[in-house]
Amino acid sequence: MLYRKMPGNGDELSILGFGCMRLPQKEGRIDTEKATRQVRHAIDCGVNYVDTAWPYHGGESESFLAGALADGYRERVKLATKLPSWSVQNRPDMDRFLNAQLQKLHTSQIDYYLIHGLNGGTWDRMQALGVMEFLDHAKATGRIANAGFSFHGLLPDFKRIVDAYPWQFCQIQYNFLDEQHQAGTEGLQVAAAKGLGVIVMQPLRGGTLGRPAPPPAIKAIWSESETPRTPAEWALRWVWNHPEATVALSGMNEDAQVEENLAIAGQAYPHSLTEAELALVGRAGRKYREIMKVGCTGCGYCEPCPMGVGIAANFDIYNHLHMFGSPGETQFLYVVRLSGVISGSRGYALQCERCGDCVVKCPQGLEIPDLLEKVAAELEGEGLREKEAMVRGFFTRVIE
Ligand code: SF4
Ligand code: SF4
Repeated sequence: MLYRKMPGNGDELSILGFGCMRLPQKEGRIDTEKATRQVRHAIDCGVNYVDTAWPYHGGESESFLAGALADGYRERVKLATKLPSWSVQNRPDMDRFLNAQLQKLHTSQIDYYLIHGLNGGTWDRMQALGVMEFLDHAKATGRIANAGFSFHGLLPDFKRIVDAYPWQFCQIQYNFLDEQHQAGTEGLQVAAAKGLGVIVMQPLRGGTLGRPAPPPAIKAIWSESETPRTPAEWALRWVWNHPEATVALSGMNEDAQVEENLAIAGQAYPHSLTEAELALVGRAGRKYREIMKVGCTGCGYCEPCPMGVGIAANFDIYNHLHMFGSPGETQFLYVVRLSGVISGSRGYALQCERCGDCVVKCPQGLEIPDLLEKVAAELEGEGLREKEAMVRGFFTRVIE
């Protein structure tokens, strides 16, 4: 296992972190025996950063982890969990959630505590509710050691949040398809230059870049390499090639996946990919973008829309659908991001009233209203309401 230093406090963290959002399941619940074995095996092999959050596995992930980290394993890892920003209604809620999490996790301190799922709007709301004072107080009382945030928004908002508080770390979505998307490479570098450790989530874009059977055009590109590597290895090594990436989280649930990731994490030094290999990954990224339906770069210049449409998010998810298939899974993702359960405001494609404001602002010259119509036709049809109810139940669970 390789380790990288957290800039603000000198912690030596394993470059592979265990993400507890996609644990193995049996009959719809966490398969405790298998998941515990996997988490402990990863720790025995050097993983020392474990990440969970209030809503993962319908609220069961944190409680599961308390058991998995018993028998001395808790002391061997840095534990990360997150404040569910969408469920916080007032300042006292923040303490209620944190105190409940300490109890659920059977620990007196969270090593790395994040405000979960920020974008520009949720940050403004959390700031107004007093989240900065809450973090100061949580640190002063020893309930958390390091404060950070996870982010799914636009780059200008990311920079604003980085500058707003003395964070120790942040968590961003980053992989070879997201170089210019959300925080992107610029965000990674901005955070690192400011002395923040960067935890990378979705290094495999929710597992899709690591699928053993990628689209044929991508497979053909990987097969040109002199060094045979799996799609997962290419994607992970690309992330770890960046020295600014402190830890990459992987939501592991298969034994073979754990072994593969552990093996890669023992070799992936910064700047270890050759120019030719980087060019190959660049070509794979371009090919993925070619087979995307909409040439949206996620720049966000077209927003805000007066009707509240999350334009960039709509196109992001629509592209995901056409690159990777899985309509059911993609519609679930669509509802998570655009139903308003997390952000507080609904951003569905169908809300577009064709005012045309966005079209003149789009540097890519996209016919946004026409494209949104297609998104609505494919993602807002059958099953949407059921998935909304499911997502609402999942994310709005509150402390009894
Ligand atoms: S055309 Fe539609 S998406 Fe664009 S700004 Fe107007 S309402 Fe919003
Ligand atoms: S301005 Fe165009 S490219 Fe940028 S996010 Fe909006 S639709 Fe996408």
